[in-house]
Order: sequence, then C-alpha cells, then structure tokens
Amino acid sequence: MFSFANKTITNQKVDLPILNKKKIELFIKREDLIHTIISGNKFRKLKYNILELKKLRKRQIITFGGAFSNHLFACAYLGYINKIKTVGIIRGEELEFEELNYNLKQCQKFGMELKFISRNEYKERNNLRYQKYLLNKFDRSYLIPEGGTNDLGVLGCQEILNENDKYFDSICCPVGSGGTISGLINESKETQIVIGFSALKSSGVEKVINGFVTKKNWKIYQDDLFGGYSKIDEKLVSFINDFFRNYKILLDPIYNSKMLYKIISLINNNNHDFGKKILMINTGGLHSIKGINQKLSKKGCSIINQ
Ligand SMILES: *Cc1c(COP(=O)(O)O)cnc(C)c1O
Repeated sequence: MFSFANKTITNQKVDLPILNKKKIELFIKREDLIHTIISGNKFRKLKYNILELKKLRKRQIITFGGAFSNHLFACAYLGYINKIKTVGIIRGEELEFEELNYNLKQCQKFGMELKFISRNEYKERNNLRYQKYLLNKFDRSYLIPEGGTNDLGVLGCQEILNENDKYFDSICCPVGSGGTISGLINESKETQIVIGFSALKSSGVEKVINGFVTKKNWKIYQDDLFGGYSKIDEKLVSFINDFFRNYKILLDPIYNSKMLYKIISLINNNNHDFGKKILMINTGGLHSIKGINQKLSKKGCSIINQ
C-alpha cells in the first residue's frame, strides 16, 4: 500500500562557510525524498491513520484545511491511490465562488469532495459535537484532524528518527500543527534538544505538543518569520535559489527555508543553543512552490527555480 515508504532516508551534510568557521556540523534529513508528490511528514502522519481506517472498515476520510494545505493534498492523493473517498472541509466559504488555486484543483483532481465553510464554522473543527455532526452527515467516515495531527499521526512521525540519529545534539524541525515535532520529541534522547520553528505566530502550539509528549527537552521559536505564514520576500527567494544551486536541496518556501534561514542567523549572531551537531529535518512540502510562484509572478517578483 505504501511501498514507496520503505526507502531509506539519508542525512546529507551541508558545509556552509559559517558552520566550518564555528566548527558546527549540520546534516539535513532528506524526508523530502520520501515521495515526489506528498510531503515527507504528511505521509508520516497519514500512514497509521489509513491503516486504522482500513481496520475499522470505514469508507471515507473527512479532514480539514486551508486553501494551501499540504495535508489536504496528501490526503486526497493517498485516498486516490488507496481507493478511499476523501472529503475536505475547507476554511473560507468565499472560495467556493472563486477559481480554485493549484492546491485545491489538485485535490479535486484526486477525487476529493470539497466543502467550503465560513471561518467561524471552521473554528469548530476540533469540537467533538461538530465532529459528530460531520460523521453523521458523511456515512461510515473516519475523521482526521487538521494537519493529520492526532495520536496515530504522532506515532508515524516517531519513525522519522533512527538509531544513528542519536549522534546529534539537537534536532530541528518546522512546526505547523505540532504533530511532527511531537513525534520527534517522543523518539529523542533526553540529552538531545528538539527545536521547533513555527510557521505561524502565536498559534498556541505548545499546548498541543504537551498533549502528546511528556519530555521537556524541547523549545519553539515562534517569531514572525518573514511576516507570517506563507509570506515570502525577495530575500527568501534568493536564499532558496542560492541554497539549491550550492547544495542541490530544494527548500520549500513556507517551512524549511524559513527554518534554515533562522538557524543560520542564530548561529551568525552566536545566539544559538543547539550544540555542535545539528540534524535538520527537511519535511518536504515542495508541492507548495507552484502556488507561491504564481503569487510572486503576479507581483512581478523573481520566482523560485525548480
Ligand atoms: C505541514 C507541514 C509542516 C508542519 O508539520 P506539523 O506536524 O503540522 O507541525 C512542516 N513542513 C511541511 C513541509 C509541512 O507540509
């Protein structure tokens, strides 16, 4: 069912000049290579959920997301290849009457039924009564929360780390809904620190993480990276393009490029607390580049080279 996922994921060393100067080792875990279509961590979070759905003999998935959600896309695709119907509950009723963006068009292409709801109704997405209402409305369905972040999603993310990764002092990863970092924390050693870089400002994600982990060896950087979620400027575009030219790793514009930019600036300013051996999890998300490039070209800005 997930034959592609048996791939061995490697850690690739990157020799940035600043790292050599400070005698810091940085390795990037190439989770972006798990699959050409779905983001590394989105697959990790869906794997056990889909196995559970099959066990419970449910017929369809209901899940939630915004118009640019990588999670919705991954659900639609995995539903398509596994012959499971998918229903996406989308934030923003106005979108129903606009031309769909690339992400939602792809979801639809993979057979996802899109239901647009108001931002107010969307706030109820984690409310059990609201979820019950949806489960009644859509027959024999299995509900997956926004971002795929539930116990089974976290369990899948624990598989990102392996024995060899005990070598590192710190593990860095981008943070959205908090599922990925929760899995990494559960799998980390107490002597390691897990550092999350939030793509959203003041999201209250610490509370979510605390619901999945008991260890305390983690922290979140939650400053307003590049003006907020999915915001991008010329500086970030050239960072992504330069990095790709030098290291042949393409970083996504929403999560991983912002994280690495921040790691480098913390190291530059001697402000980092990650130790000398850093493992950065590249969670993928390359699928978002197309939509972001559309936005950039509309504004007459330079785009991300692929
Ligand atoms: C969704 C996503 C994240 C955030 O993961 P969470 O488990 O929601 O915190 C990070 N990177 C990429 C590429 C993503 O698509």
